[in-house]
Amino acid sequence: MPADSPRPQYDCSKCPGYCCSYPRIEVSDADLKRLARHFSIEVDAAEKRFTRVWRSKEGFERVLRHQKDSVYKTICRFFDTDARRCTIYKARPGVCREYPDRAKCGYYEFLKFERRHQDDPDFVPSA
Ligand code: SF4
Ligand code: SF4
Repeated sequence: MPADSPRPQYDCSKCPGYCCSYPRIEVSDADLKRLARHFSIEVDAAEKRFTRVWRSKEGFERVLRHQKDSVYKTICRFFDTDARRCTIYKARPGVCREYPDRAKCGYYEFLKFERRHQDDPDFVPSA
């Protein structure tokens, strides 16, 4: 984090990983090469194994594949659904590195509010 970046006001270790449940996590060419290097496989193999095509009005995009999840229905295939954390932290795509790109995470604010409201520090709103 750059020296002048505002101090994060969220704690991912207390969150079940909501941002990793987004269905559209883009994988750039550079991200794909990093993933292939991380797993010591060819780029084509990494693309087939880890990504799928996302179709929208704007066209086609390469995104991370998902797996089933008990909290959010589906979540990134690289997410450890028991430990609730990323298993490829150093090799994760650029969008994961940038998010939330500000001092506050909107979902974490919502989570804190709900936990206070429910008087339960572990409460997770249903997906
Ligand atoms: S949703 Fe926010 S608090 Fe939760 S893991 Fe993502 S960045 Fe961290
Ligand atoms: S690569 Fe890691 S940080 Fe990015 S969505 Fe998947 S589990 Fe989350």
